[in-house]
Amino acid sequence: VQRHHNQAFIKLMQSLHAEENRALAPFSTLRVGGPARFFLLANSLSDIMLVQKACREHQINMHILSGGSNTLFSDEGFLGLVLKLGPAFDYIKPGPAQALLVGAATTFAKLTKLSVNMGFEKAVGWAGTPGLVGGAIRMNAGTRMGEVSDGLSRVNIIHDGELKSFNKKDIDFSYRHCGLAENTIITSAEFFYAKENLGEPNKLIQQVKAYQVKRKLSQPSINSAGSFFKNPYPEFAGALIEKANLKGKTLNGAQISQLHANFIINRGGAKADDIIALGSLAQKTVFNSFGLVLRPEIRYVGERIPTLFAQK
Ligand SMILES: Cc1cc2nc3c(=O)[nH]c(=O)nc-3n(C[C@H](O)[C@H](O)[C@H](O)COP(=O)(O)OP(=O)(O)OC[C@H]3O[C@@H](n4cnc5c(N)ncnc54)[C@H](O)[C@@H]3O)c2cc1C
Repeated sequence: VQRHHNQAFIKLMQSLHAEENRALAPFSTLRVGGPARFFLLANSLSDIMLVQKACREHQINMHILSGGSNTLFSDEGFLGLVLKLGPAFDYIKPGPAQALLVGAATTFAKLTKLSVNMGFEKAVGWAGTPGLVGGAIRMNAGTRMGEVSDGLSRVNIIHDGELKSFNKKDIDFSYRHCGLAENTIITSAEFFYAKENLGEPNKLIQQVKAYQVKRKLSQPSINSAGSFFKNPYPEFAGALIEKANLKGKTLNGAQISQLHANFIINRGGAKADDIIALGSLAQKTVFNSFGLVLRPEIRYVGERIPTLFAQK
């Protein structure tokens, strides 16, 4: 689709000091991807509201980037606007009714550490997940031991250029799913830990340590976006890909990890297309061998959506 960037939009971008044609690869833990037509670091709610309205008016696609640890940028890049929340959204402070008020650009590791130290048991399941709080909420990140939604009480967002706030109970959260509308920008959230969910912090800290050791042995530490596919309950994507004999399968710089078959890694010099080709191969082979459809957990950002990411 040819997009006409009208002068008013370009002027707005310039007034907000947006960058043009900024390379996206450094913003993704997979380290692949072409440039963004516009790249904006936003530091106020009013700027975000203004920009969201302008994107709608000028029909410019917007992608919200946080830690990029679950994101695959296409080799061609993105013709729209990539918006990243700036340092003004990196905070943890006391919120209402003994909740923590956490900015969406705060690292999830920082919130996890604080929550474990407060004795919140479910936060043990958050440990080891990279990225920022906004991305973690959007993905309902975590493990079987605990997901982000377990600690959330309220989410503050911008939608259609307006500020809105949702009680956690009114958002549909499930495994790697958050029911907020697609073009929602999460700006902050409240976390509240009820007394009955609190345990002994030292015990939890030990659990996190043990879990870190286990992870080191079972998951690759080089460039990846974590689990590539969602697990098709009750099966595990990694086990299925392994049974399909694809563990270690390599294409140029990309590889289905030898350590964990649900991780596709960039060993250096991979293109987004190599990663997509390996993901497609895994999806097809698993379907042909076991009749199960693997659906990507990672998010794709680009102009032409590959079949791998197209099906719902
Ligand atoms: C080594 C490694 C281990 C991992 N382990 C785990 C794990 O144990 N459990 C797990 O669940 N995941 C895991 N992941 C995947 C990833 O870290 C999580 O999905 C993480 O929560 C994504 O956060 P992010 O800030 O990097 O999001 P991004 O990749 O930047 O974004 C993810 C999605 O959220 C959207 N988004 C981001 N910020 C906002 C916002 N403020 N408002 C609205 N939408 C937003 C983006 O548009 C995108 O669609 C792992 C990844 C790696 C690399």
